Amino acid sequence: MEKDKSWTTPPKGEGQRPVRRKAINRQQLLLRPVEVEKLVEEDHPVRAIWELVGRLNLEPFYAEIESVEGVAGRPVWDPQLLICLWLYAYKDGVSSAREIRRLCEYHPVYQWLTGLEVVNYHTLADFRIRHKEALDQLFMEVLGVLSHGGLITLQRVMHDGTKVKACASDKSFRRKKTLQDHLRLARERVEQMGDPGSEELSQRVAKARQRALREKQQRLEKALKELEQIEASRSKASEKEKTRASSTDPEARVMLQAKGAYGPSYNVQISTDAEAKIIVGVGVTQAATDAAELEPAVERIEANLGERPKQMVVDGGLTNQATMEAMAQKQVDLIGALPERSGVVGQRLKQRGVSPDFYPQAFEYEASTDCCRCPAGKVLQYETEERQGASLRRRYRARASDCRGCAFQAQCCPGTKRGRSLVRSEATPEMAAFQSKMETPEAQAIYKQRAGVAEFPNAWIKDKIGLRQFRLCGLVKVTLEALWACLTYNICQWIRLCWKPQRLAQA
Ligand code: SF4
Repeated sequence: MEKDKSWTTPPKGEGQRPVRRKAINRQQLLLRPVEVEKLVEEDHPVRAIWELVGRLNLEPFYAEIESVEGVAGRPVWDPQLLICLWLYAYKDGVSSAREIRRLCEYHPVYQWLTGLEVVNYHTLADFRIRHKEALDQLFMEVLGVLSHGGLITLQRVMHDGTKVKACASDKSFRRKKTLQDHLRLARERVEQMGDPGSEELSQRVAKARQRALREKQQRLEKALKELEQIEASRSKASEKEKTRASSTDPEARVMLQAKGAYGPSYNVQISTDAEAKIIVGVGVTQAATDAAELEPAVERIEANLGERPKQMVVDGGLTNQATMEAMAQKQVDLIGALPERSGVVGQRLKQRGVSPDFYPQAFEYEASTDCCRCPAGKVLQYETEERQGASLRRRYRARASDCRGCAFQAQCCPGTKRGRSLVRSEATPEMAAFQSKMETPEAQAIYKQRAGVAEFPNAWIKDKIGLRQFRLCGLVKVTLEALWACLTYNICQWIRLCWKPQRLAQA
């Protein structure tokens, strides 16, 4: 046989022979036997996921299946398989049903799971959002396994909120008038559609168009309802006029993101047990701040594990009076940043250009005269007060003439023509107890552990799972997405802390 010259390199110089390389034949056809069981190694994490899910009670998933023995109908995919496909996909940073379907065609891990079958993406997509209660139950079951393994103690739980982008763009936010115009147009088009069978297009295409138009109409109706809710929560007429809602995801809200930009988002609340960094509670809210989220978080933990955490550790965004009182009532020890030093107050002052040397703690309160004294020694007189729940907030203000002539004005109250103002909250017994506790070295040492524990799952879910933006729309669906991500995180912790060490010990 004549040698294929294309697989030899030409000689570089006189006297040198060409290099001989192996030829690649892409024209051949091969039939290879596949031993499905050997597609993944013995210690592959997918085996751990399959093993763990197989041990859990999946009855709530099976209860919803209508295809049963002895009655006509096609068999359905086993929920154990669909759960494992989603968990493994999330673990790999895949959150698209179409992508999982594609992976089933060639990826050894997905082929091992499905036994070389390919699962339709509609089945996968529907399964992810159809079983809210069953998924909640599954989350609790996994917590039960982790608790039994000593990975959850509830002695100390760190809580934090993180903003995740909604599946909507900034441009999808519209004012009332625009939404009403779009809705009128959508309704007209739905009415004009008529019988899909009479269209020149195929029935399938015509029906798909009808469905898309109806869904658009429903989204616009929902956006108008959400807009009314947002308007009701605003007191000033000028703010009401500016209110907008998204026509793509009406339940999304514009929130401040981690890097300082505003965008359509949801607020994901995660509670993490400090023992082994296990997520013991997850919730999603439309609230732009975390201020009112600690009490619901404690209730979620109690619902998931049957008992309250002994101690909750939070950042300054959650240490307000209402939270302190709620935790005292629930007998949960609260550890957190002092409100005056908190990020929320600090952030507002920073935005106004106030130097940290002129934050509220730099001002002294004089009880005998009920006034405050600033670092320059000037007096801030009582101006007004307002009540927030049980808390009384009193505002004090310096004379404009004092501030105008002050050498510190650029650091203390830049750009204000009136004198510097300061708000003091009258400390309730709960607040006073919290403040004196947080001045102790023990409490401060506990607080220092917060970032390492609370922010670890947030970072893992965003970086490893890729949950920086939701794929689905609406509060219920994004809550399910967050739940799948947190369930995957917990199972990965179980693999790392229990399954792998056990296998190593057996080896
Ligand atoms: S700017 Fe006004 S409040 Fe601030 S330090 Fe000067 S006098 Fe005091």
